[in-house]
Amino acid sequence: MINKPKGNSNKLFHFSPGILVLENKTVFRGIGIGYQSTATGEVCFNTSITGCQEIISDPSYAGQIINFTFPHIGNVGTNNEDNESDKIWTRGVIFNSGITNPSNYRSLKNLDGWLKKHKIVGITGLDTRSLTNLIRDKGAPKGTICNNRKGNFNLKKLIKSNKLILIAGGSHPTGAPKDTIKMGFDYVIVGEGEITLQKIISKLKENEELNEKIIIGEQVINLDEFEKIKPLTPVEITRGCPYKCRFCQTPQIFGNNVRHRSIESILKLTNPNTDTRVISPNAFCYGSKTGTKPNIEKLKKLLKKQVVLKSINLKLHTNT
Ligand code: SF4
Repeated sequence: MINKPKGNSNKLFHFSPGILVLENKTVFRGIGIGYQSTATGEVCFNTSITGCQEIISDPSYAGQIINFTFPHIGNVGTNNEDNESDKIWTRGVIFNSGITNPSNYRSLKNLDGWLKKHKIVGITGLDTRSLTNLIRDKGAPKGTICNNRKGNFNLKKLIKSNKLILIAGGSHPTGAPKDTIKMGFDYVIVGEGEITLQKIISKLKENEELNEKIIIGEQVINLDEFEKIKPLTPVEITRGCPYKCRFCQTPQIFGNNVRHRSIESILKLTNPNTDTRVISPNAFCYGSKTGTKPNIEKLKKLLKKQVVLKSINLKLHTNT
């Protein structure tokens, strides 16, 4: 099914054409906005009437294309304070009407420029209401948006690129893996994901079949190995908990044996110029072999390093 752009199409094509192709081969045509490229993701919708910059920069939309139901997008513009994360994880955006000029004293850049800066592909001028109804009735489909000044869209290729593989992990999928598969995910990693996700991706790249949809994650023994993936604050300094409280997901996901990040690794991941927050299953177990008795020496060492850093920071600050 092909949905034409709203309004006078001749007039619209003075702009960069855009297209949205869903996995069921439904095609929406519109006008390209933001970054000119192709993006594939799960198409979801958002009904908020404000907070567009916060929504797009919210990491919970990682890998998704957001269809905004509110038509007047862009009035507030964008600024340097309202991003919800350092990196934008959203793949693309869909708006009903063209981006409006910003009219807000905090605005530094209009939304279109901000989308370009963050390489977010967008499309506007399509029927977001019928797209929302489709998502409501049939669930969130995989889709590809393409924004291309020449309007050269290879429909066959775009339909093929919708073969997106969705892998879920974390506390909720671990607690309800079967339900997560029912929701439309292809695979669920139960437990820890760092090692297993890499293995799954390597296999899929080689077109290898995976026997199970629900895969038990391999335990990470050395947390320091994963310091390259700069975590969003706070920094995880200890993993696992020996107390096995029945209502708690921590021992379900991470097991009962505690593992600690080294002080050197913690210092690498924390920024002495900002508020430093760390996370541990129980407050005083850092450095403890069993996780049940505090290791006072180790705690003192960690805190001392932090205090030393803070005093250097304070001194530098005072001198400038
Ligand atoms: S993290 Fe807290 S609630 Fe969870 S098992 Fe450990 S002690 Fe219990």
